[in-house]
Amino acid sequence: MEKLQNFIDGKFTSPKNGGYFDNYEPGTGKVYSLIPDSDSEDVELAVKAAEKAFPIWSSMSLEERSKILVKISEGIEKRMDEFVAAESRDNGKPLHLAAQVDIPRSVSNFHFFATAILHFASESHYMEGTGINYTTRKPIGLVGCISPWNLPLYLFSWKIAPALAAGNCVLAKPSEITPYTAFLLGKIAQEAGLPDGVLNIIHGTGPKAGDAIVRHPKIKAISFTGGTQTGAYISQATAPMFKKLSLELGGKNANIIFADCDFDDMLSTTIRSSFSNQGQICLCGSRIFIERAIYTKFRDAFVAKIIKTKVSFPTDPEAKLGAIVSESHLQKILSYIELAKEEGGTILAGGNRVKLSAPYDEGYYLEPTIIEGLDYACRTNQEEIFGPVVTITPFDSEEEVLMMANSTEYGLAATLWTSDLKRAHRLADKLQTGIVWVNDWLVRDLRTPFGGVKSSGVGREGGWEALRFFTEAKNIFIKY
Ligand code: NAD
Repeated sequence: MEKLQNFIDGKFTSPKNGGYFDNYEPGTGKVYSLIPDSDSEDVELAVKAAEKAFPIWSSMSLEERSKILVKISEGIEKRMDEFVAAESRDNGKPLHLAAQVDIPRSVSNFHFFATAILHFASESHYMEGTGINYTTRKPIGLVGCISPWNLPLYLFSWKIAPALAAGNCVLAKPSEITPYTAFLLGKIAQEAGLPDGVLNIIHGTGPKAGDAIVRHPKIKAISFTGGTQTGAYISQATAPMFKKLSLELGGKNANIIFADCDFDDMLSTTIRSSFSNQGQICLCGSRIFIERAIYTKFRDAFVAKIIKTKVSFPTDPEAKLGAIVSESHLQKILSYIELAKEEGGTILAGGNRVKLSAPYDEGYYLEPTIIEGLDYACRTNQEEIFGPVVTITPFDSEEEVLMMANSTEYGLAATLWTSDLKRAHRLADKLQTGIVWVNDWLVRDLRTPFGGVKSSGVGREGGWEALRFFTEAKNIFIKY
């Protein structure tokens, strides 16, 4: 059985305590590799390596740093097929999704920040007759990057790339549920000539390896993407140390559909925004609100398409949905479907586990599920399910739909379908989210601020926001 290894000080190493745990393949439900059960001892080694590397990396010219990061981007691109197959196997997502989204985006993340850093500038503020302020932006030092399982390398690299580009040394922990492509990234970093200790990849559980990163006093900033509860824990643990925090947390996004939308465009995009990656994208629109005039038309067309959707093993080119990431996550989603029934919901499509034939008969498959008849304030409509489950609810007015959309504790993203430009502006302005898409979904320009409000997080990633997060500003005033 293959044993993954940590990547510390430029070398692949076993965890100090010698412990490993199982890595399951969601498509078959079988263990296929072993993950280092790292702890604070491994984190301590990585901190020492990073401290040694920081003066070298942070004083390198921007051009040199940029060239190495471009090589990492190219290194992933050259091994595209290997990364795509590994991501799909480790996560359960359809192979074609990893090929179209996850790995190309990881390539772009490194390339984008490798080149962005060459254009990053700090500010100066001129005070007439008095003097001038200029602001410097220096790397923070050692930073921690902790990521979830739903878009494994995509989100891992979205943090690591700007942290490195800004001149920091990184201690990174991928999700213990999907560690494989992060393991492969270590090899790419070696081949690209990244100096030893600049990027350290530590595998293990949140409470052990993650906690050791979060609590280490020499790690000055934490960029975290994951669940809201974990984010709250990290906030509490780091507050006394005044660490800089970027928290990208859960969501319960509204997809608001007005009768004047382009129906066909809306329907095909809504199928994607509901069920892509088995609904396990923090941006998926899990609460669909439809203007009453087209409620029945939408419901019938949506259900007709979804009951024909193919759920299959990840390497099946016809698979629209692959496997859910783990047995325990599948059980959590099924428990929410039961809750929806108890709350008076009607299952219009799906709702059941799917049994495929061998060798996939123990895989974690679930039908895409559509539920109607629930109150907007019930638990099913308020809590994050993070699976292929959506609710549909009619509305009669802008005020009503805005109230329902803004009723959750979350505020990550919203989608709005209308051809009335004034209405689009009006509602986009009032939606309590960090991101609004009008007449589309998940269009990403890496320069734009990415993140949520309320319990969906603190801070923004992307573009200059990320480079500002990973640098410390100092203002210097000089008198005339
Ligand atoms: P999670 O919070 O369980 O785990 C995320 C990461 O944190 C993992 O690497 C885990 O090992 C680590 N972790 C767990 N406990 C920790 C601790 N005590 N200290 C330090 N690290 C710890 O989340 P998950 O189940 O992996 O991911 C799903 C969640 O992520 C969903 O809520 C989803 O909405 C959210 N998410 C948000 C975004 C966004 O951009 N806002 C993107 C993707 C996923």
